Amino acid sequence: MDVAIVGGGYTGLWTAYYLARRDPALRIVVVEREFAGFGASGRNGGWLSNLLPLSWDTIAAETSRDGAVAWQRAANATVDEVLAVARAEGIDAQATKGGFLCVATSELQAARLRESVEEARTWGFGEEDLRWLSRSAARERVAADRVFGGTWTPHCAAVHPARLVRGLAEAVERHGVTIHEGTPVTEIAPHVARTPFGDVSAKVVVRALEGYTRTLAGSRRDLLPLYSLMLATEPLPDDFWKEVDWSGRETLSDDRRLIIYAQRTADGRIAMGGRGAPYRLTSRINPSHELARGVHDMIRHSLVELFPQLADARITHRWGGVLGVPRDWWPSVHHDPATGLARAGGYSGDGVALTNLAGRTLADLITGESSELTRLPWVGHRSPRFEPEPLRWLGVNTGLHLAAAIDERERRTGRSAAVLDRVMTRLTGH
Ligand SMILES: Cc1cc2nc3c(=O)[nH]c(=O)nc-3n(C[C@H](O)[C@H](O)[C@H](O)COP(=O)(O)OP(=O)(O)OC[C@H]3O[C@@H](n4cnc5c(N)ncnc54)[C@H](O)[C@@H]3O)c2cc1C
Repeated sequence: MDVAIVGGGYTGLWTAYYLARRDPALRIVVVEREFAGFGASGRNGGWLSNLLPLSWDTIAAETSRDGAVAWQRAANATVDEVLAVARAEGIDAQATKGGFLCVATSELQAARLRESVEEARTWGFGEEDLRWLSRSAARERVAADRVFGGTWTPHCAAVHPARLVRGLAEAVERHGVTIHEGTPVTEIAPHVARTPFGDVSAKVVVRALEGYTRTLAGSRRDLLPLYSLMLATEPLPDDFWKEVDWSGRETLSDDRRLIIYAQRTADGRIAMGGRGAPYRLTSRINPSHELARGVHDMIRHSLVELFPQLADARITHRWGGVLGVPRDWWPSVHHDPATGLARAGGYSGDGVALTNLAGRTLADLITGESSELTRLPWVGHRSPRFEPEPLRWLGVNTGLHLAAAIDERERRTGRSAAVLDRVMTRLTGH
């Protein structure tokens, strides 16, 4: 075998896709514990966005301003790359590129969002990348309640995540890649991935497990599995859509700390997600954590705050999944030609587009091609490992509580919770 890819989510499949397109003679296998798309790739919020999980300042401090800008521009372009491949491969991901609307639901959030636009200008990003919208301009796009203005970027599309990943798996197979489902990998070593059914030997072994990285021997402290939870309403009546419009299918959020994210689905529902599920001691992953009642109630509460008309709307679906967070929130892409070990992940909740950028970059690295992509700041970046337990548990859950406390304090007082914010920044590093 030339390349064995461990994990059949977007990271693994995009890597397989670009390798197979680059060199159809390569023998590539994807080894997946459940089925392709079982993980976060099949159950996310469908924001195909240009978001990076860390600030340009942080990137520039470790690399350079040019590096930060180049990475952001590559992420911007990735949105169109995914849509173009989906079109070319006949993948019906129900995609609409309506951009991302971040509404301010308080004066304080409005001030912060205005600042973010000013900051973008200092990095050379103009109106075509991010713009401030007045209250009426924001509400023209989505007539949510209590809106004080907002920002809008065109670099985002709403997609159906599971259709994208299943369509991609089919495309990859059409291009000659074999996908072995129902095959857990227990350990990765140079040129080999071990499974209970036997070893898979390959020149290159790619680890593409994100939130599930801890399931491999020796990798428990590399990436933290953090739960994000989602719900979907019943299909909403025409009256509602007439009132709020949202015809551009912009992805929608506000500027709180404990992130929420929503999209109008192609079948007329609102799918909305949020962070805040408690982190479990020793990074345990268990399907029961996907249905944490308190978090789903919080998401529903946020939905009704934005759209009071939905107080009685039925919630027909609730689910959740794990995303992978590195200790310093830097996602990264690696390839070591000496050992044949490669890996990508740590997108910290922004992986729908970044996995494509990672897959293209891994294809370049593995085939030995030096390119603009292989020079981006996340290539070869090494994150520190997480602390041993119970420090890890304490740190992560304190961070989550702080984020919720900051939102609550700001909501109550209308003032910035600057001290708590500084504590959180020290704790989480961003
Ligand atoms: C609820 C939720 C909402 C999100 N919303 C968004 C969003 O709107 N926009 C955005 O950009 N990002 C979002 N994300 C993050 C995004 O979905 C992920 O960053 C991305 O899907 C990661 O893809 P991946 O292929 O690296 O990992 P995954 O999709 O998790 O794939 C890993 C695969 O490895 C398999 N596996 C696990 N263990 C083993 C093993 N031992 N051996 C073999 N295979 C194994 C799993 O079954 C899985 O299929 C969200 C995540 C969640 C959970």
